Amino acid sequence: MPIKKESKKIITEKLKEKILSWEEKKTYFSDKFKKIEEKVKESLKNRQTDEALYDLSIWALVLGSSDIHYEVYENKVVVRVRIDGILVDIFELTDKEYKAILERLKYSANLKLNIVDVPQDWKYNLKIKDKKLDVRVSTFPTKYGENVVCRLLDSTKAIIDFEDLWFFWTSKRILSKAITKKDWMILVTGPTGSGKTTTLYTVLSKLNTPEKKIITLEDPIEYELPWVIQAEVDEKKGFTFQAWLKAILRQDPDIIMVWEIRDKDTLETATSASLTGHLVLSTLHTKSAADTLDRIKNMGLQPYILASALDTIIAQRLVRRICPHCKTQREKTPWDIALMQGIMEEIGMKGIGVENLKLYTWKWCDECNNSWYKWRIGIYEIISLSPKLRDMIREWASTEKIINEARWWDLILMKEDGILKAIKGFTTIEEVLRVM
Ligand SMILES: [Zn+2]
Repeated sequence: MPIKKESKKIITEKLKEKILSWEEKKTYFSDKFKKIEEKVKESLKNRQTDEALYDLSIWALVLGSSDIHYEVYENKVVVRVRIDGILVDIFELTDKEYKAILERLKYSANLKLNIVDVPQDWKYNLKIKDKKLDVRVSTFPTKYGENVVCRLLDSTKAIIDFEDLWFFWTSKRILSKAITKKDWMILVTGPTGSGKTTTLYTVLSKLNTPEKKIITLEDPIEYELPWVIQAEVDEKKGFTFQAWLKAILRQDPDIIMVWEIRDKDTLETATSASLTGHLVLSTLHTKSAADTLDRIKNMGLQPYILASALDTIIAQRLVRRICPHCKTQREKTPWDIALMQGIMEEIGMKGIGVENLKLYTWKWCDECNNSWYKWRIGIYEIISLSPKLRDMIREWASTEKIINEARWWDLILMKEDGILKAIKGFTTIEEVLRVM
């Protein structure tokens, strides 16, 4: 077969191409979409805009969706929701219907109705039985009108348990050890939508005992935690993130959670907090553990400070979990086998024979709206700095050398973690390649 002559990289790229084009073509379709469309339109016809928005929000939440998007095009307005990280078209609205929704959303979120040419954002509360849902509304003027994205924040939802974060035992061992330490910094890293918040809150809730004072600085507060002092930063009031952080330190906390390290100032304040006896948890927008080390170096933090302050980096992504209702194993073709061998070689896991890898296909399934997936799980790489790694950082060793040293011990890279989870049948290789 000609594929044998091709390099591993080309093989992986080819597989990626094949998967992505398939993903695009795949349609999400369900009777549920039709039903909500009818309900929303009926309410709008009767001028019950509040009810239309209420129904749509509940429906989106039930579907496990975090955002509702309204997109204005030349001759249509499309309503879309994000389900398990993927945007899905739900239905279209007429100009008249959208106008009613737009006005109601702007009014509810205290935005200026007459301003249509600059972006605005604020939030409103939606009461659903005994629950309180925060809806963050942001508008964005475009060529054809104002687009709106509503982010649904269910701050009362239960924090998931440490056991449910889908760590493999090596990662779990590293992390369990890291969070018992007192004065270090733990960073959770990844792009937007990679599940950093969930990990951070789960770690925080594990640390949450009455004898400790925990203060958080967030933007926005996504979960409400009992016995934790939570503050929401609003830089519009002229008080910077760093100024908030300094104020926290005067409140005598044991543990600090800073939502995001945005700049050198925040980084320096956060590291000095950890050097002066606080456990600091935070996030950084980076792609991997290696990328995190490079970013911190590039921000200009001195290596000896980094080596003394940082303890653990958790880099992560979310992959969709195979829908348990329609999971169906399929036979491997020679093509599949050649492609999988290529991938295993690329990530240095040739030892795990491809015969262990299972492939799945989808079937008609209303549980997952024929998307093949339901909910998501995390894939991780976790580095905890050993004395040897700290020495290497102090001596300005290259990131590559540091990562190689960590791999000698127990570092599993994110892609490997994903493939291992695919082997176990929790997700698919296609999905791991899609997010990596
Ligand atoms: Zn299914």
